[in-house]
Amino acid sequence: NIGEKADKLGFKAYIIGGVVRDLVIGFKNEDIDIVVEGDGIQFAQMLAEEFGGSVRSHEKFGTATWKTDEFCVANKSYCREGLKFDITTARREYYDYPAALPTVERSSLKEDLYRRDFTINAMAIQINDSEFGKLIDYFHGIKDINNKKIRVLYNLSFVEDPTRILRAVRFEQRFGFLMDGHTQELALNSLDKIPAVSEVRIANELKNLFQEQHPVEAIERLAALGVWDYIIGDGVASLEVLERVKELKGVIKIVTNKNVNNQDIHITSPYDNDKYRFWICYLASLFYDNDQWLERVQRFTLNNDDVEVLNHIQKLEAIWQDKIFMQTSLGVIHRELYQFRVEAIIFVLTLTSDYRQQAKTIIEYLQKRVAIPALLTGKKLKELGIKPGPIYSEILFEYECAYLNGEISNKD
Ligand code: ATP
Repeated sequence: NIGEKADKLGFKAYIIGGVVRDLVIGFKNEDIDIVVEGDGIQFAQMLAEEFGGSVRSHEKFGTATWKTDEFCVANKSYCREGLKFDITTARREYYDYPAALPTVERSSLKEDLYRRDFTINAMAIQINDSEFGKLIDYFHGIKDINNKKIRVLYNLSFVEDPTRILRAVRFEQRFGFLMDGHTQELALNSLDKIPAVSEVRIANELKNLFQEQHPVEAIERLAALGVWDYIIGDGVASLEVLERVKELKGVIKIVTNKNVNNQDIHITSPYDNDKYRFWICYLASLFYDNDQWLERVQRFTLNNDDVEVLNHIQKLEAIWQDKIFMQTSLGVIHRELYQFRVEAIIFVLTLTSDYRQQAKTIIEYLQKRVAIPALLTGKKLKELGIKPGPIYSEILFEYECAYLNGEISNKD
């Protein structure tokens, strides 16, 4: 096992951070972070030599990612493919100025834990054979989990990294916890440091926050803390804006139709994050009352999909007409809307006043569209002897229309 290899190298090794927190709380978590007091890259290479898989390392940071081909528990009673381990050398960080990126140097486990955001994320479990399973909780993370508290480890935490304010709200909402009084006060006193953080870092935290189960509550909480004033400007707490994000969430939920049971503590995201970029719709909702909303949201986009969603919103808004609501044939609606991303359609739909009355068919269309089965694929067409070319997308499009019209069923 892994711990034995750490013993062999004379390193102390620990699983650490979110996965430990989630083990204690009872959440599912497959992102396994390992910290070694020793050389993280050497350890990762040894694991790959012994157990197979591949290693990608970053010498500068002393970090490596080890991806297994197959991962099995000791007696092979459970195996799965491609587990990912992020392995780092225990390190401490210091900040040259508030909100700067940190300078990193090697350290002990305790110092590595001390640089973390909250006590609940600063626990470790040793995995060396001799001490396997030993919980290390220098900062009383277990106590804070029991008391449902989000607590920083030191007073300058939010000043050094103001994105932790967004992270605090994310964990509050996910677990139903609250910042303790002192932590909240520190957060409030650090709000003016937020504008010093790059848009990409803010965007990443907002994306993580909006992809979780409770984006509306998170937006309200951030409004109550006054955070939006430092990201968007004021106005976000207005009833109209909050209504808009509630509508957005409602339609996303209906359309993606994952039977999300809020009691199921293992689910953190209600939809497929790789496929849908709804987070950018939430952000657009918040900025929408501003005349320059598009330019302002564009500054926060993280990838081409985000950019595409915004472009589609803009195009769709310009051509969105009431006549679309009159259509009863899902195939005809598809002809009008197929070139637009689902996220953009939902966004524009929720902007339309009184859409709930009118948009039943469009919602039905979206529900069916996101679930169109891949019964007909390019591969199948090739097998049928059709020469590849633009005709493929035409045939596939006609197939989608026919499916939406109920002319083809799942069994065909
Ligand atoms: P999730 O379940 O959402 O992945 P996580 O706790 O694993 O939550 P990550 O963003 O993957 O969160 O970070 C892994 C660990 O790294 C955290 O548990 C925390 O200890 C530490 N960490 C991440 N971001 C920060 C930060 N901005 N400041 C301090 N520590 C951080």
